[in-house]
Amino acid sequence: MEKKVSKIGVMTSGGDSPGMNAAIRAVVRTGLYHGLEVYGIMRGYQGLIEDDIYKMESRSVANIIQRGGTILKTARSKEFMEYEGRKKAYDNLKKRGIDGLVIIGGDGSFRGAVKFSQEFDIPCVGIAGTIDKDILGTDFTIGFDTAVNTAVEAIDKVRDTMDAHDRIFIIEVMGRDAGYIALHSGIATGAENILIPERKTDINDIIASLKEKERRKKMVNLIVVAEGDDFGGANEVQKVLQENLPKAEIRVCILGHIQRGGSPSCIDRLIASRMGYHAVESLIEGRHNIFVGIQNNKMNYMPLENAVKNKGKVSDEWMKIVKILAS
Ligand code: ADP
Repeated sequence: MEKKVSKIGVMTSGGDSPGMNAAIRAVVRTGLYHGLEVYGIMRGYQGLIEDDIYKMESRSVANIIQRGGTILKTARSKEFMEYEGRKKAYDNLKKRGIDGLVIIGGDGSFRGAVKFSQEFDIPCVGIAGTIDKDILGTDFTIGFDTAVNTAVEAIDKVRDTMDAHDRIFIIEVMGRDAGYIALHSGIATGAENILIPERKTDINDIIASLKEKERRKKMVNLIVVAEGDDFGGANEVQKVLQENLPKAEIRVCILGHIQRGGSPSCIDRLIASRMGYHAVESLIEGRHNIFVGIQNNKMNYMPLENAVKNKGKVSDEWMKIVKILAS
């Protein structure tokens, strides 16, 4: 195996997601296994600019596989959006002799890496770490499975009270541009309606079905809405439904940040370990400026610039399943 890098840096950037620690652990231990020096970069690109970088050993990543968040912390960096910021970042890497970067983050972080690798001679490899699962070219992103399981657990609890009181509940889950958390958690909790940014919301259709339920005196109805739905979030939906069904008890529950935290699921730990391992192997084998994904249970290496928002890709099959199973 030809070795082209000797010192690598690893960072987490953008929105945090459960399982990032498992990925850091895999990168560090795989790097050390291959005799590389591995450096942890704190707070994503901002730490790179501020030279907040430290050498990592095997014990630096002991006992973290089960922890949510990220031991390297994460940040959004305005400075890195400018050339001057990226030049500072490059100078810090050069000074330390770091000749490869692993970036664990979402599509924004990948866009930053594309710019950086185009301007400077630092090979970058991305690992998709985002709860939104909105990156084209991978069936999994680190954190999605945990976030969905958190949402499912919470929605199940809300369903109990919804059922006891004959109420309509509108539950808002995360997903500004992507509806996967809403879709998966909605199907898994038997939601009657799932509202996502990728599909136009037909509010009149929902009103009509609720009026029919009201007529039959069966007012239990669960609506899961992604925060970025085209019609608006849970509060907007509630307002319009209440206007049209003045007698109905319609409650809103916004799950919010609980979806980001917590101990990563087994699946997230597994994919983080696998992606972390393959990210380092890629740097060593000369597969540069790509991100590692998993498709059909095989590793998939895609150019970083292909990691665009996966908008509009929700399959018709899923939408049909939602409709049939809720009827
Ligand atoms: P995520 O990686 O979760 O999608 P962001 O979109 O906030 O999160 O991106 C994380 C960071 O990546 C930004 O704060 C910025 O520093 C960097 N970044 C994003 N887009 C660009 C860009 N076009 N050029 C340079 N850096 C970028």
